[in-house]
Amino acid sequence: MSADDRTNSQLKLLLPDGSPLICRVRTSARARMIRIRILPPEGAVELVLPRRADPEEAKRFALSKMDWIMRARDTMLQQNTVKNNGRTEDRFPRSLPLRYLGGDMPVEYVFRPCSWTAAKCDPEKRRIIVTGNVLDPDRVREALRDMLKRCTADFLIPHFHGLAEKFAFSPGNCTIRIQKGRWGSCSAKGGAISLNAMLLLLPENIVEYILIHELCHLRQMNHSERFWKEVEKYCPDFLKRRRDLRKLEKYLMVYFCEN
Ligand SMILES: [Zn+2]
Repeated sequence: MSADDRTNSQLKLLLPDGSPLICRVRTSARARMIRIRILPPEGAVELVLPRRADPEEAKRFALSKMDWIMRARDTMLQQNTVKNNGRTEDRFPRSLPLRYLGGDMPVEYVFRPCSWTAAKCDPEKRRIIVTGNVLDPDRVREALRDMLKRCTADFLIPHFHGLAEKFAFSPGNCTIRIQKGRWGSCSAKGGAISLNAMLLLLPENIVEYILIHELCHLRQMNHSERFWKEVEKYCPDFLKRRRDLRKLEKYLMVYFCEN
């Protein structure tokens, strides 16, 4: 195995069978050490270098990790084409449609030789980074589910309490869960409210309707005419928002719900 020349932002490595492997090379001001990223879904290889890194060192680093790179690519390619109910699931999503936070956010995968997998969302830089053992699709999904719950807690709970205060509701505890087919629930005992972390996949105006819907259950524990009158008070165009929700629901990612 030998390393070939580094051209522009690409590095060509020669595999044992003589075939070339082109790695993308990117310099990053934030990188403190050389990192290798395997990008889904097709397993492209990217080397991220600290600003002052020596290209020769990057080449040596990539070559020393060649076994891992090949295994990682194979795993990603195999795992990503697992058929689920006759449908190909994207087991390493390239982006997540976090509409509440402004839309699609690309997912980057950064390998580290360790046993944990963690996902972090950076809404300002508009990206999600999954770090650690990024080769196991179940761990990746678990990490993204945890991230979704944390983000919902960070972004939605303050909004929820703000609305409650604005309209003079006094809800109990608010908890976040990932659920299939239920956006929120309100308990008769103590007015505890549970919100679905997948709310982040919905646009803000629909999320607001759902929050108001749950708050109104504090006054009407049913879906009677009186309940809808209450909802209408705070959300006059709730019928439209509810229709939009029904349309959107069909296209939301099943990815998060599988167990
Ligand atoms: Zn309801």
